[in-house]
Formats: sequence, structure tokens, C-alpha cells
Amino acid sequence: MKKRSVAAILVSGLIVSAVLTGCTGSKTTANPQPSASSQNQVVNVFSERHYETDKQLFEVFTKETGIKVNVIEGKADELIERLATEGKDTQADLFITADVGRLHRAKEKGLLQSASSDMLVKNVPENLRDKDNQWYGLTVRARVLVYDKDKVNPAQLSTYEDLIEPKWKGKILVRSSSNIYNQSLLASFIAINGEEQAKAWAKGIVANMAREPKGSDRDQAKAVVAGEGDLAIMNTYYLGQMLNSADPEEVKVAQKLGVFFPNQNTANGTHINVSGAGVTKASKNKENAIKLVEFLTSVKAQNDYAKANFEYPVNKDVEPSDLIKSWGEFKPQNINLTLLGEYNKKAVEIFDQVGWK
Ligand code: FE
Repeated sequence: MKKRSVAAILVSGLIVSAVLTGCTGSKTTANPQPSASSQNQVVNVFSERHYETDKQLFEVFTKETGIKVNVIEGKADELIERLATEGKDTQADLFITADVGRLHRAKEKGLLQSASSDMLVKNVPENLRDKDNQWYGLTVRARVLVYDKDKVNPAQLSTYEDLIEPKWKGKILVRSSSNIYNQSLLASFIAINGEEQAKAWAKGIVANMAREPKGSDRDQAKAVVAGEGDLAIMNTYYLGQMLNSADPEEVKVAQKLGVFFPNQNTANGTHINVSGAGVTKASKNKENAIKLVEFLTSVKAQNDYAKANFEYPVNKDVEPSDLIKSWGEFKPQNINLTLLGEYNKKAVEIFDQVGWK
């Protein structure tokens, strides 16, 4: 199959689903709020994202709308815990995470609510938002193979499945299974290949690991260059951040690495995930929360995410950064991301069964 851009795939998914569903869900469901004078308008955000770009985007939003953005940053599970504990008294209007698995977790705990608008439906393709409109993708992340250019010929690389072949014994670097990116990766395999194959894959990876899982995605990249293994499974934006790091050592490491998008010649493509946002069940400023998500998925904000953070835009009208584009276009997995949340528990069980620490 000819490679297509993320945007092209996303658009085609959108068209297919619009035909199937008769394009529902485009009605604005925001609750009318008691009208306050504009200088009193706020939106309170619980966010797992901790990037300078996000802060700048919130400032621009305030300038454009007069709505002040208050942000509390924290780990996703801690913020979920806090939302649950505070219940209807929570100040939080919007929950932002770095992964769809955590959004699904919040949804399952009844902490989010449906929210939609014509603009959100236009900005965010259907496979990158919750089927009940309880969350929307803000940025796309691809989980790829990163290899030592001196050691690995990319012609040797093909699929995630190939990584369990004996030729990769002792050569694979990947972080622990407690990491949600890995949980979502395995959840995608359960959705695509079924439980048995997903389990065989996880078992095979454990057998081929260069070392016991430890550290972050960046640490896997560093371990590849340090000669601990030949290739790492990691998210692309970390490599973008390393290439643009203030630390010259990180830049040096990243320059030695190549990016490979697996499964381009299979029915399903490279694994993607989203960072996203959901309006909280107890939101007292629902309309403002929706406005903020509309803004964050707009062409203007999406350009900033792409350029400053090296993430892929969800909005099909926005191009990835030049660096990201230099790694080439790829075919993403074409599954509804809700499935990553739905199969999360099963994925964690499999990791435990096969001993992926
Ligand atoms: Fe990350």
C-alpha cells in the first residue's frame, strides 16, 4: 500500500465514519453558564502535560477570549485520584493527559462528561476522539523503532512482530511495562491481532531484551548509542526534543540514531497514541472548557504543538514540523483509539504474565 500522511489517513477515517453514522454529534451541548462579566471568566485545568508550549498557548487563549486559564500540573493518576476525591466540589473543568489510556481511565471512573461542538468535530478526526465525546486528541504521537545508524541497516527492520525473532536476541531496549505508552502499544496489538498473538509478542520481546527495562524513552535512546542494544522502541517527539536540546550530549546521541516506522507494509501501520483533553463531570465552566479545547485543536495552536514539541497535529489542516517531516510520512494504525483504553487492563495482565518488568 502506498504510504499516506497521518492527515490523509485521519481524513479518510473521518469520511468513512461520517457516512456510517450519518455524521452525528455535531450539536453544541455546552451548558449555559450563569453569565459573569468577561474578566471573571475562567477555565481550570488539571494537566499532565508540562511543556512551555502549553503555557504560551494558554496565554494566547486568554488574550483572545478574556478567559483566564488556571493550571494545576501533576501525574495523570494523581490528578485522576484528586478528581475522584473532590467529586462535584472539584474546581477542575478540563483534564489533560499525555496518553489516551489515562483519559479512558478517567472516563471509566465517571469523571468526565460529553462535550461537543461543530468546531471540535471539524478539528479532531473521529478516530482521535472518544465515541461519547468525553475526550479529544490534542496531539498525535508515534511509537517507532529508533536504531543505531552505525550498527543497523534499516533494510533489516520491518515490523513490531519481527522484533521477537531470534536475530534480535539481547538487542532490544524498551522501558518498563508500568509505562502507559507501552500499555497502549500492547493494547493496540490486542485490538488488531487478538490476545494470543499480543501475548506471544510481549513474551518474545522479553526474551530479546538487551537489559531489564529501566528509565525513560530518552534513556533507551542513550543506551542504544552506549552500545547496550541495537534498537529502542520509543516515541518520535523525544528524539526531536533531544536533537534540539540545550545539552550538547543529548544532541550528539540523537544524531547517531535513525527513525524507522514499523508495519508500513502490513494491513495496520505504526502505533499512534494521543495526548488529549476531556471536560470534567463536575465542570462549572463547561463552555469555557470547550472553547479552550477548540482553541488547542485550532490551526494556530496545532502549529505551535508541531513546531515546538515535535508532536504530530490532530488537525488535518496542519503540517508536522520540518524535522518530523524529514523522517518521512507513515501509515498509522487505523483503529479507534478508544480501544487502547478498553484493552489497557488486559495489556497490563499480559505484561505481568510474561514477566515484562
Ligand atoms: Fe512523553
